[in-house]
Amino acid sequence: VDKASFKKLIPVVTYEDVKPDIDRIASGDTSPILCSQPISEFLTSSGTSAGERKLMPTIDEELDRKSHLYSLIMPVMNQFLPNLQNGKGMYFLFVKSESKTPSGLPARPVLTSYYKSRHFARARAANDPYTNYTSPTETILCNDTHQSMYSQLLCGLVLRHEVLRVGAVFASGFIRAIKFFENNWTSLCKDVRNGTVDHRIVTDPVVRLAVSRVLVGPNPGLADFLERECRRDDTGIIPRVWSNCKYIDVIVTGAMSQYIPAIDHYGGGSLPLVCSMYASSECYFGLNLNPLCNPDEVLYTLVPTMAYFEFLPVDRFVEKADHDDDGEIKLVDLVDVKLGQEYELVVTTYAGLYRYRVGDVLRVGGFKNKAPQFTFVCRKNVVLSIDSDKTDEVELQTAVTRAAVQHLAPLGASLVEYTSYAETSNVPGHYVLFWEIDNGVMIERSSSTVSESCLAVEEGLNSVYRQGRVWDSSIGPLEIRVVESGTFDAIMDHAVTELGASINQYKTPRCVKRGPIFEMLNSRVVSSHFSPRLPKWAP
Ligand code: AMP
Repeated sequence: VDKASFKKLIPVVTYEDVKPDIDRIASGDTSPILCSQPISEFLTSSGTSAGERKLMPTIDEELDRKSHLYSLIMPVMNQFLPNLQNGKGMYFLFVKSESKTPSGLPARPVLTSYYKSRHFARARAANDPYTNYTSPTETILCNDTHQSMYSQLLCGLVLRHEVLRVGAVFASGFIRAIKFFENNWTSLCKDVRNGTVDHRIVTDPVVRLAVSRVLVGPNPGLADFLERECRRDDTGIIPRVWSNCKYIDVIVTGAMSQYIPAIDHYGGGSLPLVCSMYASSECYFGLNLNPLCNPDEVLYTLVPTMAYFEFLPVDRFVEKADHDDDGEIKLVDLVDVKLGQEYELVVTTYAGLYRYRVGDVLRVGGFKNKAPQFTFVCRKNVVLSIDSDKTDEVELQTAVTRAAVQHLAPLGASLVEYTSYAETSNVPGHYVLFWEIDNGVMIERSSSTVSESCLAVEEGLNSVYRQGRVWDSSIGPLEIRVVESGTFDAIMDHAVTELGASINQYKTPRCVKRGPIFEMLNSRVVSSHFSPRLPKWAP
């Protein structure tokens, strides 16, 4: 009826609160449970509930809203870099596996849904500047990541003079593609030279046909040039090969900021990194109106027609949610947020999520006219992320505890303390756990125990992590570094004496970044072990 009634009557919820309703729809109940319009499909979020992907309901018309947000990106970019419509974007875009709910509704990631939609096909057919990519749609829709990546690179190489921008959705995906180029340039150059598509690599006939339409016959000159550039052990492969490229379009805010040095290496430090938008499976949120700013200055402006946005004030160190007279949490509207304050984002979507806590923490960093603009601060509780996986503290704790009980306890050993680290200096990156083991000598004698523990931890992690390991190969085998006994005491001493932590309140950090504590851990490593096999995963 009105805003006051809405706020009074509708509780603020998390996924667990709406899960029973979602399960009913997924099992075939077509009554208007969450939304008067039929739920057209479920978008599988990279956030998890009980180890499985969350299912976000969506309706047909949401695709119009997403297309609308995409259609704003090029006009914004063109204000800073004119004439981008005269060239193409080399974007590495991929679909992921999908499944069906018991009622037959598709369950798939939001981008897979978009790339398979008529909206995407229509935009491409109409030469919409945003979707003017070097990759034919058939290469994007190819289920085999290896074939898809090879084909997209081959097209991008052949069309290199037309390329004005390069990118992927997240930084991790872009780095994988460029690494793939570094590892496969000899085959790619051979195909460029002969005007062929290697039939041992690209076997899908539909993809082969689409790529062969882009190749316009043998090109030995280009092949010679590419071979020379690929042999050079130097930074800046992107501007060297795609010399008209003006920027790299990848999200490097939030957890992806760990990849900035790697991307800068490929960009030679001369190409700006552009974070163009902020979105999720629940709904799309907004875009960056100052796209050439530094990654640490990125502000996203929420587009108020995407959803009804509310904000839960947070103090990351002391949760102090304000409650109204009925005990409900008090939320702030988009027009009332305060500069410098941090908030957790709460959305009410057209597809039937009401006052739903997204789990992202944002900080108001400025205003465009009167529209607030937000820095992405973090995802609540997430400790580790390599690609689209988001492992939270509880999931990690459960997986580690179970692995220790399974593999250490039978040998009379136990886990004294642990912490974790996202190792991204290699491609693909992987999770590292530092374990201090009581009775570690015993363990050292049975060298398979710790590597089997690595696998046991992986088996206990959520399905997004295991999919990254098995289907996408975007995450490498988990590593456990066993540290000397007394290591975690030394870390506590360091925190108390050097960092002024209170000894009563000290808690072992469950995740560390590069810095003195990481150095302390590494300097005390006794042995390192990797997961010997892939964990189990099914779509
Ligand atoms: P998913 O629902 O799996 O698509 O994941 C959506 C989540 O990815 C968001 O809630 C954020 O935590 C994260 N995310 C999306 N876009 C950005 C961005 N531009 N910067 C930082 N994190 C982002």
